[in-house]
Amino acid sequence: MEIIMALILVIASSAIFILRMAHDQYAEWLSKFLHGALMCISALWVGCFYLFLASGDSRIVFPFAALLIFTALISLYFDGRVLLSFTLPIWVVILICNFVYPSELTVLNALLYVLLACLFESGRRILRGWFVLAINREQENRVLIKQLQNLANHDPLTGLANRRSFHLLLAKAMQRHEQCGTSVSLIMLDVDYFKKYNDHYGHQAGDECLVKIAKCLEAATRSIHDVAARFGGEEFIILLPEANQQQAIEVAKRIQQNIQDLAIQHAASPVAPYVTISLGITNLTPATNATRFIAQADAALYKAKEAGRNQWQIFSN
Ligand code: GH3
Ligand code: MG
Ligand code: MG
Repeated sequence: MEIIMALILVIASSAIFILRMAHDQYAEWLSKFLHGALMCISALWVGCFYLFLASGDSRIVFPFAALLIFTALISLYFDGRVLLSFTLPIWVVILICNFVYPSELTVLNALLYVLLACLFESGRRILRGWFVLAINREQENRVLIKQLQNLANHDPLTGLANRRSFHLLLAKAMQRHEQCGTSVSLIMLDVDYFKKYNDHYGHQAGDECLVKIAKCLEAATRSIHDVAARFGGEEFIILLPEANQQQAIEVAKRIQQNIQDLAIQHAASPVAPYVTISLGITNLTPATNATRFIAQADAALYKAKEAGRNQWQIFSN
């Protein structure tokens, strides 16, 4: 009996130790190992019961087995297969116990056996229900968190990054600039005479025009690192990490070309018969903070507006 108990303790503690130390990538292998270890422990308990029966101490079997079954239920309720393979030998032992010792086969014992089985099954169903509910809640929460993050970081009309998200990404790019000296550029752009567009075609058409422009911006950016964001109203800003002035100019030209290709009619515009944009380009210089960096892009944009719109300008002191 002592040897069996020692074996149960050794197998159980090694299984717990291995499970605590193991990585998730071995999950499948671990699940098989756990299953095997539990079957061994179950077989050892059955051996224990045999020794109880052999020594004529059969009365202890039922309460002991019931205790073991409910302990297994609490720890293994989430996996019906494993729970069954652990508890089945114990159920059989209790049954055999009744037959081997006919004096034990009373109506009361049979009732107790059925009651135990009913309690076990209903307990398993309740615990499993809670487990499934918890998993579903967890999944729902993850989806909700993703939706909230999306709402917090994106502009609802255009789907581009919003101003808040832009500021966070700019801070990261500027930090990389400080650490590794990588260049960072900004392009700020604004739709020309957009108020006139709204007045002429209506606010709904204005919204549609902004969505088309946003798509153009996304198409014109270089990589997944570039970020086109809606800065506010009909003003957009493009963050170009690892882009020098020349590369930023190329992106600006591409944006202008894409918008020209769209050829959205703008009968009320004094500069062209279609929608145009003005762009301000700036490159990050050392000891410039985010506010000043954005103000430089804005100043370059103002220069483009002043110079007649439908063009890009580079920031200069
Ligand atoms: P400029 O060439 O100097 O930029 O002139 P502008 O008319 O484009 O600039 P202004 O700042 O006078 O007007 C901007 C207009 O953009 C006014 C506002 O109604 C419109 N606007 C801002 N946000 C939205 C939006 O989400 N949807 C629509 N349809 N219009 C918007
Ligand atoms: Mg404008
Ligand atoms: Mg504006």
